[in-house]
Amino acid sequence: MIDPFGRHITYLRVSVTDRCDFRCVYCMAEDMTFLPKQEVLSLEELERLCGAFIKRGVRKLRLTGGEPLVRRNVMTLIRNLGRHIGDGGLDELTLTTNGSQLYRFADDLYDAGVRRLNVSMDTTDPERFHTITRGRGDLERVMQGLDAATAAGLKIKINAVAMRGLNEDAFDELVRWCGARGYDLTFIETMPMGDVDGYRVDQYLPLTEVRRRLEALWTLTDVPDRTGGPARYARVAETGGRVGFITPMTHNFCESCNRVRLTCTGQLYMCLGQEDSADLRAALRRSEGDDAVLAAIDEAIGRKPKGHDFIIDRHNRPAVGRHMSVTGG
Ligand code: SAM
Ligand code: SF4
Repeated sequence: MIDPFGRHITYLRVSVTDRCDFRCVYCMAEDMTFLPKQEVLSLEELERLCGAFIKRGVRKLRLTGGEPLVRRNVMTLIRNLGRHIGDGGLDELTLTTNGSQLYRFADDLYDAGVRRLNVSMDTTDPERFHTITRGRGDLERVMQGLDAATAAGLKIKINAVAMRGLNEDAFDELVRWCGARGYDLTFIETMPMGDVDGYRVDQYLPLTEVRRRLEALWTLTDVPDRTGGPARYARVAETGGRVGFITPMTHNFCESCNRVRLTCTGQLYMCLGQEDSADLRAALRRSEGDDAVLAAIDEAIGRKPKGHDFIIDRHNRPAVGRHMSVTGG
């Protein structure tokens, strides 16, 4: 699939549920209204849609959410999608997870063909973790999951959203801790998505500043490594590990965008930071064959916009109304 700006679309992210067992302050409101169950695609329907994308040339699939591992029977979907790795359709099947369920799924994930995971963890301090997840997250459980994942042979990358006043004193420890465990670490700028009962203007911490602060303690040297996503990496001389920076706000990376995002209701978003979408559920349910879905996908790729319009301004309006948990990070 090639979009109007000549970009090859080979990467699909799928939000398998908008539900989550955490309520991270930058992601959700305290009192979230989730989608009614009847609007959500079945696991079979999600698998069919993923299959259509693979037919159209998608080589990398990332399952996300919400929390992908809290969806009932999600391992069935993961195992079935994993079969495409063996048959040459997919290069990679991976997940972004908050780690709360890893302690029970790590081995199954490896057996299904998953080799790398992104685990979101904004601090190594249990109390602060509790605060950021609004009292729902148990860091010890997540650590247990990380140990299980490492033992199973899964490669881990930790994602940390950088937030003023919340975890800005945790960055050096995250670099040290990840370096010692052999995990990559990626910092992410807060993006203005959905209403989260807070003031993003106050939370927002540009990664240019995070990097400047890290350099007081660590020697960072840029490296050209790419992992298929938008992160730019630096090597940390003292730990030998890598630190990545995802900077949608301070440095726009849209020109190299290779991905689209599917929600659990079958809406395809061609850009995380735009409202335009395509309804693949209607096409999917119209017929048993794949022709209607493939046509709908082609039409949608033809509408992929050039880039996002994220701005964090003083009016504090989210740039897009939907939460990150709907489109999937
Ligand atoms: N529940 C899983 C998790 O937390 O990893 C997967 C879904 S979560 C929406 C995916 C990623 O998006 C996480 O790394 C999270 O920190 C990030 N995220 C959520 N809301 C965000 C926001 N407003 N700005 C930037 N990143 C955000
Ligand atoms: Fe849940 Fe992930 Fe959003 Fe946190 S960032 S509330 S874990 S979906």
